Amino acid sequence: MSLALSGIGVSRGVAIGKAHIILRGSIEVLESAIPAHLIEDEITRFLGAVDSARQQLQAIQKRIPANTGVDIASFIETHLLMLDDATLVTTPVDLIREHHCNAEWALKLQRDAVVSVFERMDDAYLRTRRDDIDHVINRIQRVLLDSYQADEHGENIAMDNTIILAYDLTPAETVMLEHQGVKAFATECGGPLSHTAILARSMQIPAMVGTHGLQRYIHDGETVILDGLQGVLIAGADEQTLDYYREQQQKELQRQVELDRLVETPAVTRYGTTVRLMANIELPEDIDAVSRTNANGVGLYRTEFLFMNRPEPPDEEEQYDCYVSVIEALKGKPLTIRTLDMGADKQPDGNTGCSNSALGLRAIRLCLKNRSQFTPQLRAILRASAHGPVRLMVPMLSNTSELQQVLALINDTKIALQRESLAFAPDVQIGGMIEVPAAALTAADFASHLDFLSIGTNDLIQYTLAIDRLDDEVNYLYDPLHPAVLRLIKITIDAGKAAGIPVAMCGEMAGDPHYTRLLLGMGLSEFSMHHTALSEVKNVIHSSSIAALIPLVQELLDNTCAGRIPEQVELLNQNSF
Ligand code: PEP
Ligand code: MG
Repeated sequence: MSLALSGIGVSRGVAIGKAHIILRGSIEVLESAIPAHLIEDEITRFLGAVDSARQQLQAIQKRIPANTGVDIASFIETHLLMLDDATLVTTPVDLIREHHCNAEWALKLQRDAVVSVFERMDDAYLRTRRDDIDHVINRIQRVLLDSYQADEHGENIAMDNTIILAYDLTPAETVMLEHQGVKAFATECGGPLSHTAILARSMQIPAMVGTHGLQRYIHDGETVILDGLQGVLIAGADEQTLDYYREQQQKELQRQVELDRLVETPAVTRYGTTVRLMANIELPEDIDAVSRTNANGVGLYRTEFLFMNRPEPPDEEEQYDCYVSVIEALKGKPLTIRTLDMGADKQPDGNTGCSNSALGLRAIRLCLKNRSQFTPQLRAILRASAHGPVRLMVPMLSNTSELQQVLALINDTKIALQRESLAFAPDVQIGGMIEVPAAALTAADFASHLDFLSIGTNDLIQYTLAIDRLDDEVNYLYDPLHPAVLRLIKITIDAGKAAGIPVAMCGEMAGDPHYTRLLLGMGLSEFSMHHTALSEVKNVIHSSSIAALIPLVQELLDNTCAGRIPEQVELLNQNSF
């Protein structure tokens, strides 16, 4: 019998493959008393589990491809070292002896003790190391509970051709999927604007989120169909359904071939106005795909991905080398390097932070607090600017005092580089992301101190409408066409125009062809998106007339309370100019 689960499609494409369920969630550990004569057996069981955990990690280590973009190898290495550490191995043995308890309970006692030490640490980065402890302990616990699927990430599994079904996937885990040949994924949690979803689109892996009931209804190993456009996962499909989806796969390929034909064409409107189409990248190697798209440059380089899946952050030299490699690949086209936007769902080891970390110490707030990490990045970006056009972009500004601090820091960094006779471009462009409603409303103040603005709609919508972009329960409220969002975008575009500086958009809204005409009519002239969306947006630009769109969009913005915006946008899109 066939079964269809619906969710939110976040990355288009159809995949047919074997379900591979990744168990998640906390492990329930119960205490049980061990009789004195069985204590040594319990210790042997515990040490055996540590050994199995080590073998699993070594198996993963062997599977890491040499060309992996992030330093996954050293991330695994850290976990292996932890398995040799007395804190995780010797102390639980002592606790088994002392409390006459089961190995699982001893490990839990030790975990709680270690974690409480980490949580008292002042350094935010070190505090997040606590999650490494949890990962390693969970691995041992799963072996002990015999519930860990030995093949979960291990040697024997062929991840090729599998469709991953998980409770949740962090951005760090998603990056690894690509290297493991995974065809598609579905998660129970998450929203279309989560970084995991954004990554899926840029990796061109069909994906869906908010798929409730995955673990209850789907069996590991059964054949499933995932439609990342419609957000449907089907198990037990009959031949007819399978044929239908195979046909959809062919159509998708055909569509891609047609869009590929647009690659070489310039992004000009019907009457010849040029629109700048830029690409968003997460990792330096994304630039290869971008180079094939004929984009006008990179409008958003999310540098935080360089800091993920590794025990130590990259130092100045490593960052510098990385940025220079991207600049060189761009051959004179501009690279917009966004300073670290860590925090919220983007933690170095992939775990998400506290529940409303989106309002907490993230992005520029974290950088200004943690200058020992921020300054090397500023130095690396400035030094890289000597090799080609670089635009330095600051995320999540909420008031101009933050901006003043950043500008002062950049200035100090330039002076230091000069003193050390290290080259940089003195006129490197500095831009700010408008992602907080307060910043949009005061965009004119920001514009007067900056060379460009870039609207980050993913966060702007989240903060304007008070909806967590990761929470699928409130996803239905996520609305780029909400009048409040449109007004904030318009204020920002107008502020940039008045100050004579360019305004770009680099949130997902920029890459959705459904909104291209609306944004053109609002006066946006630079769009930055995942490279896979470039041709589709270009296609819309080719058929649009900005002169015709401006009055129509103005009328739409003047009458937003009528609740007809989606319909009016639809009409804009159907119009032939
Ligand atoms: C945004 O918020 O729109 C944006 C581009 O930044 P990120 O998605 O990385 O938070
Ligand atoms: Mg953002």
